[in-house]
Amino acid sequence: MDVLCFLWMLPAVLGVEEVLMDSTTATAELGWTIYPSLGWEEVSGYDENLNTIRTYQVCNVFDTSQNNWLRTSFIRRGGAQRVHVEIKFSVRDCSSIPNVPGSCKETFNLYYYEVDSDIANKMFPAWMENPWIKVDTIAADESFSQVDLGGRVMKINTEVRSFGPVSRKGFYLAFQDYGACMSLIAVRTFYRKCPRVIKNGAVFPETLTGAESTSLVAARGTCIRNGEEVDVPIKLYCNGDGEWMVPIGRCVCKAGYEALENGTVCKACPSGFFKAAQGEHLCQKCPINSRTINEGATSCICHNGYYRTDSDPPQMPCTTIPTSPQNVISIVNETSLMLEWSAPRENGGRDDVVYNIICKSCGGGRGACTRCGDNVQFVPRQLGLTDTRVHISDLLAHTQYTFEIQAVNGVSDQSVYSPRFSSVNITTNQAAPSVVSIIHQVSRTVDSITLSWSQPDQPNGVILDYEVQFYEKSLAEFNSSTLRSQTNTAVIRGLKAGTIYVFQVRARTVAGFGRCSGKMYFQTMTEEEFNSSLQEKLPLIIGSSAAGVVFLIAVVVFIIVCNRRGSDRTDSEYTDKLQHYTSGHRMKIYIDPFTYEDPNEAVREFAKEIDMSCVKIEQVIGAGEFGEVCSGNLKLPGKREILVAIKTLKSGYTEKQRRDFLSEASIMGQFDHPNIIHLEGVVTKSCPVMIITEFMENGSLDSFLRQNDGQFTVIQLVGMMRGIAAGMKYLCDMNYVHRDLAARNILVNSNLVCKVSDFGLSRFLEDDTSDPTYTSALGGKIPIRWTAPEAIQYRKFTSSSDVWSYGIVMWEVMSYGERPYWDMSNQDVINAIEQDYRLPPPMDCPNALHQLMLDCWQKDRNNRPKFSQIVNTLDKMIRNPSSLKATTPLSSGVHLPLLDRTAPDFSSFSTVDEWLEAIKMGQYKENFANSDYTSFDSVSQMTMDDILRIGVTLAGHQKKIFNSVQMMRAQMNQIQSVEV
Ligand code: AMP
Repeated sequence: MDVLCFLWMLPAVLGVEEVLMDSTTATAELGWTIYPSLGWEEVSGYDENLNTIRTYQVCNVFDTSQNNWLRTSFIRRGGAQRVHVEIKFSVRDCSSIPNVPGSCKETFNLYYYEVDSDIANKMFPAWMENPWIKVDTIAADESFSQVDLGGRVMKINTEVRSFGPVSRKGFYLAFQDYGACMSLIAVRTFYRKCPRVIKNGAVFPETLTGAESTSLVAARGTCIRNGEEVDVPIKLYCNGDGEWMVPIGRCVCKAGYEALENGTVCKACPSGFFKAAQGEHLCQKCPINSRTINEGATSCICHNGYYRTDSDPPQMPCTTIPTSPQNVISIVNETSLMLEWSAPRENGGRDDVVYNIICKSCGGGRGACTRCGDNVQFVPRQLGLTDTRVHISDLLAHTQYTFEIQAVNGVSDQSVYSPRFSSVNITTNQAAPSVVSIIHQVSRTVDSITLSWSQPDQPNGVILDYEVQFYEKSLAEFNSSTLRSQTNTAVIRGLKAGTIYVFQVRARTVAGFGRCSGKMYFQTMTEEEFNSSLQEKLPLIIGSSAAGVVFLIAVVVFIIVCNRRGSDRTDSEYTDKLQHYTSGHRMKIYIDPFTYEDPNEAVREFAKEIDMSCVKIEQVIGAGEFGEVCSGNLKLPGKREILVAIKTLKSGYTEKQRRDFLSEASIMGQFDHPNIIHLEGVVTKSCPVMIITEFMENGSLDSFLRQNDGQFTVIQLVGMMRGIAAGMKYLCDMNYVHRDLAARNILVNSNLVCKVSDFGLSRFLEDDTSDPTYTSALGGKIPIRWTAPEAIQYRKFTSSSDVWSYGIVMWEVMSYGERPYWDMSNQDVINAIEQDYRLPPPMDCPNALHQLMLDCWQKDRNNRPKFSQIVNTLDKMIRNPSSLKATTPLSSGVHLPLLDRTAPDFSSFSTVDEWLEAIKMGQYKENFANSDYTSFDSVSQMTMDDILRIGVTLAGHQKKIFNSVQMMRAQMNQIQSVEV
């Protein structure tokens, strides 16, 4: 928009006139200078309001050559740059004067003369055009001619002229008459100013007009209080008439203030109103659920319990968290689950409600629930669900879960309250193992193919065996043959040379077969391939010394026979090789970190340093020897975030404590086995010092078993023990002696996989711990109940003494976390062992397992089994579950071994309640009492059905009570027969 447009747009702001001289205000003679003396004449007169005024007249029209000058007094310039002169005068019309000569005029001249002081006199300035400066020749618009009875009727003209620039202190005006008949009624001189004004939110000061009538004088504006500039510069122009024009730029009221009184003030928003941003708009009322605490609010504060997200506009009502989802429906299908729900009754005033699913697996109803591991799958996802349904799979079979469906919205994370949720408890069903996904060809000959495969991701129980189905690719599928393998490898023999076969593998648990793997195609060697592979081997063999020729021939023949037939190899040889092949590592030997001159060196070598910024600590889960143990997350660059356990070293540690603490990491860091707790790394470069390991959802085995008393099948328990034995075999192969193998030092993950942990050495040191489990002995502290006699007596710690401890762990597992040797004193335990007493089988413990325990507790350590044998024995039991059927019979003529506390003598209790407490089934006291089972007589008659009927629904607890009832009956019979 150009300046001209603005000129039109701006309403006229009239200028202010600053008067320098006004002849009408004179109260006495004006006394202006006249030349010549017979020219102008000062006379009194009246203005239109009949006030007395001083005027000058001249009317020498009948004399020719008139040149009459009238000079004002000295007029101070003031601030004027351009002076305006307003002249009121009347002129007689020459034609109305009879006989007037031709020299009669109807005009006069106006002059000015600038000076710095009042120096004029009668002769100076000279009465002529030069030195005066002529402003104009002024003519009357209207002259007058009529004369009435009372005198002349005057027509008064008003003319305004201006001149400039003026710069001296003052000036004189002169009026030159050269033959008119006129009267100078009033003379006023002034200059113009643009007044102080508030325009476009800015204040402009009073501004003098410029020297020329066309001058525009720029004035800078400043924003009014609480206004802010939006366009700069902020300007107005003052024109020669003292009018403002051409506004440029503007100010607006800042946030919290609104423009009132025609935009001349910015006033604070009143309470209950707000204005979020600068601008011309007015304050708005606070939205629902919000208020202000002061005037001039830029936003309204939400009421308690109501919130706003960063992206919520300030005029939006404050919102709150949603109520819980409603009408949750769950449909369990084996180890999968469909959850559906409906939206919460109240969405908190927002339409961004989403749902999170929290999965907890709960042991047997009594134990605490733990968060599910990463392996559980959620489709479409676990968090931020927009639909009201989710499909959850890869749960463990036969497991109780609690699912919490949280409703959250954009403000949930600001609320001090946890999201509201609805929960649902479900128990998964028995399920077959998941599919075997990867099959490798390990080797092949002309008539055999050796395959290996990985265990299914979700075994859903102990894998009893695998079935391999195969058929010639060129034949139809119904010609397929099958073969069973108890390991994850198989040699398929009797195949045709150079033929492609189709293979599929599936796993079997007690729940049946899992789904078959996808079809894989492998080809046997052709005779030619076989011969050429032989030829590649021959030069190597023949290149050896000539003296061995006969021997070489024998070897060649042996290779041919082995390769062609493959039948001379035993399975176990092959399996061994395959394990090496598949695991791909050669056995290392463990290095004691304390053999390093600087144990920190061992930490650097065996433990990865992790930057603290990758670690997020969530919550404390336990107390370690050196500080708290926490759970948290680890996000290493380029890897996905994983759950971890974080052991911390409490502050104020000594250098020795730091070394001892980190020694566990340098030991753990040397191991790599699925049944050994995995070290992720250490944080040593910042405080606190930390050891970070994989997270084991179910914590330590002893408390896990106690929380889930009676809840597992024997096969599940054997599976756990098998894992521990496999971990111990690995440690033994590494030449590492654990010395503290106990259920408390085994950790359990969400898949029930047991892992050996606790590689700290310090607790064995004499003065380091007050834990009563570790008893001072010569040269250190020893966990007496778990330790082999030779290790207690003369500190002979070996893998065989670890085997002894392993037997105790088996006993702990089978008795669901019972304390070995119950409340016997350590000395009594040592004495009893010395006298060849051993722990009896826990209740329902298969004989085969107790026998294995007894083997582990052989006095002569050389007679104890090796861990590799233990693993094999347990594998056989798993494959052949019927071997676990036999348990110690409860005959009527019972012999209670000295150490057997599993079935206490009922006669030592006075009430059924006491008896229930002793067999650790105290929680059913009310069930017994309510059904009138309050005497030993009635209890001893109970059948399994009775036990179920009174409300014992857990199979493990039914069995435990029933066994104790049977025992009670047997003891009663015994007493009766003695009495007889
Ligand atoms: P520790 O110092 O190793 O005996 O650990 C103390 C306790 O912290 C244990 O009894 C467990 O309950 C817990 N804990 C230690 N390591 C882990 C882990 N990797 N995962 C889960 N819990 C753990």
